[in-house]
Amino acid sequence: MISINSIYINGAFTAPHGTATFDLISPIDNTLQGTLTLGDEEDVNRAVAAAKAAFQTFSKTTVEQRIGYLQKMYDAVSRRADELTNIMVQEYGGSIRFCRNSTQNALNSIRTNIEVLQQFSFTRHAGKAIVHLEPVGVAGIITPWNASNSFICAKLSTAIAAGCTAVIKPSELSGRQTQLLLECLHEAGLPNGVFNVVNGLGNVVGAAITAHKDIAKISFTGSTITGKTIARGAVDTMKRITLELGGKSPNILLEDADLETAIPMAIQAAYMNSGQACIAGTRLLVPASRIEEVKQLLKENMDIARVGNPAEEDTLIGPMVSQKQYERVQQYIQLGIEEGAELWIGGPGKPEHLEAGNFVKPTVFVNVTNDMRIAREEIFGPVLSVISYSDEDEAIAIANDTDYGLQAYVSSASDEHANRVATQIRAGRVLINGLKHDPMAPFGGFKQSGIGREYGAYGLEAYLEPKAILN
Ligand code: NDP
Repeated sequence: MISINSIYINGAFTAPHGTATFDLISPIDNTLQGTLTLGDEEDVNRAVAAAKAAFQTFSKTTVEQRIGYLQKMYDAVSRRADELTNIMVQEYGGSIRFCRNSTQNALNSIRTNIEVLQQFSFTRHAGKAIVHLEPVGVAGIITPWNASNSFICAKLSTAIAAGCTAVIKPSELSGRQTQLLLECLHEAGLPNGVFNVVNGLGNVVGAAITAHKDIAKISFTGSTITGKTIARGAVDTMKRITLELGGKSPNILLEDADLETAIPMAIQAAYMNSGQACIAGTRLLVPASRIEEVKQLLKENMDIARVGNPAEEDTLIGPMVSQKQYERVQQYIQLGIEEGAELWIGGPGKPEHLEAGNFVKPTVFVNVTNDMRIAREEIFGPVLSVISYSDEDEAIAIANDTDYGLQAYVSSASDEHANRVATQIRAGRVLINGLKHDPMAPFGGFKQSGIGREYGAYGLEAYLEPKAILN
């Protein structure tokens, strides 16, 4: 039985003041794997004090020094990349292919921050003023369970690049992954207090970070509802906020799209990370004239969406992270049926032989209209809604008829055509003819998908305050 009884403050593993424990349950078979001791407000206070003290000197480090620290961080994480991937598969239940990518994304984000620093100017001119971009202060980093260590590495490496120090609250569902990452980060030998990690509940540790007067900025990834709670709490101390929240991403197949490639891509886009992805392409927009062809191709290509043991190389969809998430997805599948959408593939219940874990049948609804809740709300499971449109203007209108605006996908035989449509979509990223990611490009949402941008120079600027000096 695993027992994790430490948090990380001021360069050392230390026992938390909090005594409550959280059961670590395997999503693959719902067996108890161990327990995690949770921190409390007192632990947040200690972590913030360490980060605040470290900020005095860390904020004055040179770019070269910070590149050196990031390189050490990269090397330390890189040395244990395979272990990080494997523990993610076991604890979170992500497919091995997804988890390998996730570890690589963690490394790429650190590497990218080194490259950004090599090009970035912390001094600018505006009119007669010289503008100095200074680190904002102690950053509070609050992360979810669906790519835990990748989020931590991306946010922490950006904070370090800026000269900020950090207090991190991961999801308690990621306790084992956090512990292994902490061993790597400890090994990297960063100055004491630069990063501190407090495991604990969102409404205890997360709320204490949000309220703390010595934290200057919060970077959060998670649900829109929690993002709003954090934004409300942060305003009392006027914290800067970067919020990366939910999505209901449209995937537009234009009239001229090559469906033989676009449909397998649509399945991958909808079911990536077992559907537990804010960027999942969960609304497939199809020209009415091609709907029958699309329905047929979805059935023919469904073998891509293999659900099963996440450690097996050909699995695309692992279990939902918890029984709570499993129930949530089941409720949405039931809701789709009640709303009158046509169940085309999958449906309620667990796939055969996978009854022990939180496995969901990859599900496709057709004849969905954009006013149905399954088309408007983030489900966070492998459920795809197919919506038909009559002409391109209507496709764009449906794509934009959402509270969200994180990512969108467009498929067309012509890049020029797809780009013309992309310029009319209100989303932070639009991917054309494929699943793409560039850690230099800004990432974040329009509308209720969030505030601010992460990655690259845009991400770095979110940890900096401009100070204008006029002579
Ligand atoms: P949350 O947004 O509640 O959790 C994300 C993080 O925020 C966790 O570390 C959580 O801690 C923390 N948190 C929760 N409440 C507070 C609070 N009051 N103050 C500060 N931090 C807080 O997501 P859930 O895990 O509850 O998932 C529910 C739904 O959210 C999913 O079905 C999905 O739709 C969406 N989601 C979106 C993600 C994305 O990538 N954009 C990622 C994860 C979820 P704790 O774990 O202790 O609650």
